[in-house]
Amino acid sequence: MQSLSGDAYRSAVRGWLGENLPAHLRADRASYAAPRLDQLVAWEQALHRAGFAGIAWSRQYGGHGRTLREHLIASQEIGAVAMPESVNSIGKELAGPIIQAIGSEDQKRRFLPAILQMAEIWCQGFSEPEAGSDLAGLRTRAARDGDAWRINGQKIWTSGAARSHRCLLLARTGKLEDRHRGLALFAVPLGSAGVRVNTIKSMDGRESFCEVFFENVEVDEADALGAPDEGWAAAIKVLAIERATNRMYRAWRFENELRHLISACKTDPALEDLLQDGHYAARLGAVFVDIEVLKGHVETTVEDLMGDLPIGARGSLIKLHWSEAHQRFATLAWEILSQASLPLRPAVKVAQRRFNELYLHSRAETIYAGTTEIQLGIIADRVLGLPRGK
Ligand SMILES: Cc1cc2nc3c(=O)[nH]c(=O)nc-3n(C[C@H](O)[C@H](O)[C@H](O)COP(=O)(O)OP(=O)(O)OC[C@H]3O[C@@H](n4cnc5c(N)ncnc54)[C@H](O)[C@@H]3O)c2cc1C
Repeated sequence: MQSLSGDAYRSAVRGWLGENLPAHLRADRASYAAPRLDQLVAWEQALHRAGFAGIAWSRQYGGHGRTLREHLIASQEIGAVAMPESVNSIGKELAGPIIQAIGSEDQKRRFLPAILQMAEIWCQGFSEPEAGSDLAGLRTRAARDGDAWRINGQKIWTSGAARSHRCLLLARTGKLEDRHRGLALFAVPLGSAGVRVNTIKSMDGRESFCEVFFENVEVDEADALGAPDEGWAAAIKVLAIERATNRMYRAWRFENELRHLISACKTDPALEDLLQDGHYAARLGAVFVDIEVLKGHVETTVEDLMGDLPIGARGSLIKLHWSEAHQRFATLAWEILSQASLPLRPAVKVAQRRFNELYLHSRAETIYAGTTEIQLGIIADRVLGLPRGK
């Protein structure tokens, strides 16, 4: 795609999505069917070929060489349609940016195009049974073995590990007492001898979560990301990206969900009555305000990043606001739709399927990428400068 003005770029993204997004991938359509992995991979490959993945990545690594502002425009259009989440968001939104920041030239060439072309799906191996919020307590060890590394330990809650090719692994090269020092990041091929992946079923019936065991796994030096002692700084960078710019489309997807809920309710007289009830109208109005505030946060963050300004703890604000507001909305949608008249109107049936799933999934939103309590702690400490609690 040639260089275009913001408006022309927006209409190009919108036009392409309108023509190419299959109805069976749209969660707000009756024809939606839970997609298989191969369908999702094919869809994401098409998105990339069209120029809408790796938007701001350098062309030499398979990206499209555009700006973060264009990434934001595309995200707004992507959010406005009910398309599936990426199955390689760890690759595209966490591993990719970190490799661009600290990876060697060889790593950039090997990993980045493969991520965008969906040849390699990544997962994130940070959390352990005894190290979640307190990540610096992790115990998985990486020890030098000649020119290579040997990894031993266990990760847990590793989303999508069973479908992934590589794991962005944070492991300890120093002593446990050193905490933040002596941690390193690796790009571990999950097909390596000694890696075992077990899936864990969650309450929404999915088997995305995994526990991953590493038993004497050999990892090439070429797959160590950054210097051995850079691991913590790199991990913090990953988490800041995860909180600030990951899934930039969220506010616009959130708006798509709100509008979907309202339009489904209007097809059922009992639910339409609820929309007129002051209690529900006020709560829906508050959701709209939440969405607008979130859009403002994201747009300001992009402008600051474009101007090379520090975003500080803004990622924590965005993560906290989005997860709390979205969880409230999911509860409200469930509460409203459960009062539908029987037999269910077709549009209500579609909405119930989408929002029941959203409700279950939203329970996790205040936990992953740092819990609500952890974000509040960061804001208390780094934004307000409050004295540390005892
Ligand atoms: C859907 C989902 C997907 C995930 N995907 C991944 C993934 O792909 N890769 C990965 O590495 N991890 C992943 N995680 C794990 C996630 O990062 C951790 O669950 C999270 O960091 C919390 O850690 P924990 O579960 O060990 O809880 P804990 O850290 O044990 O926390 C338990 C409770 O104590 C509170 N708490 C802990 N410390 C403090 C404190 N200092 N002050 C106040 N309260 C505190 C917490 O807020 C929480 O309520 C995922 C989690 C979920 C739910």
